[in-house]
Amino acid sequence: MTEPPEPAPAAWWSEIADGVLVRRHRELDLSTGLVIGTRSCLVIDTGGDHRQGAALAAAVRERTSLPWAVVYTHAHFDHCFGTEAFLPCPVWAHERLPAVLRATASAQRDQWSTHYRDEGRPDLADALSASRAVPPDRTVTDHVEVDLGGRTVVLEHLGRGHTDHDLIVTVPDVDVVFTGDLIEQGAPPAFEDSFPRDWAALAAGLAERGSAVTRFVPGHGRPVDIAFVRTQAAQLRTLVEHAAALGAVSYAAEEGPTHPFGAAVVRTAADRLR
Ligand SMILES: [Zn+2]
Repeated sequence: MTEPPEPAPAAWWSEIADGVLVRRHRELDLSTGLVIGTRSCLVIDTGGDHRQGAALAAAVRERTSLPWAVVYTHAHFDHCFGTEAFLPCPVWAHERLPAVLRATASAQRDQWSTHYRDEGRPDLADALSASRAVPPDRTVTDHVEVDLGGRTVVLEHLGRGHTDHDLIVTVPDVDVVFTGDLIEQGAPPAFEDSFPRDWAALAAGLAERGSAVTRFVPGHGRPVDIAFVRTQAAQLRTLVEHAAALGAVSYAAEEGPTHPFGAAVVRTAADRLR
């Protein structure tokens, strides 16, 4: 008799450097992060609802008992609606995030609850509907260093890109950069709230800051290297240049290799380039 296959886990850790972990989530292929110091730890993004957040908090507690702080890479629900389980704790974000969260949390909840219901996943829809968007109590303008004991992490806003308030989180002692959705692996970048021209330049700058050994952790998908970041930066530049040359509307109507992310994604990007 053969054993039934083990169900695939909903989420799993991989330790990509000493005390630096990535938690991959099957839902939306989200990647969250954990950086462990000697006095405290930092959790990078909290998942898309209160249940995912509680599961993440429990998973962090299996790795460390140190006090934690949370940082949001940006205000999209899948990155920040799981925070309740971590409270009370410091919550970091870019200074524009609180206003964005106030303006969009309820619409995000409605849009994605409907999406999950339409997909036949009422449990996810209910969990999202019951999740509170927790605002940060510490904000970053450009650059903040957070001392975890034995190591410092850097929270930085490099300009507009995937949103107008993206933060990256760098762990200099092991050359790891958590990029949020400024870089995506396994799916095209998402342009709904983006600033494509700024984003193309920002992504090129991000690649320039790295070296052959830098690991970049995207907001979705697996950790990638500098070659991947360079490629994504070039794709963003291609998109922006063709949209400029042809006009955004004709470009979106076109098909072919000048569409690095596919026509539907380019249409959304083109809307943001008008
Ligand atoms: Zn996003």
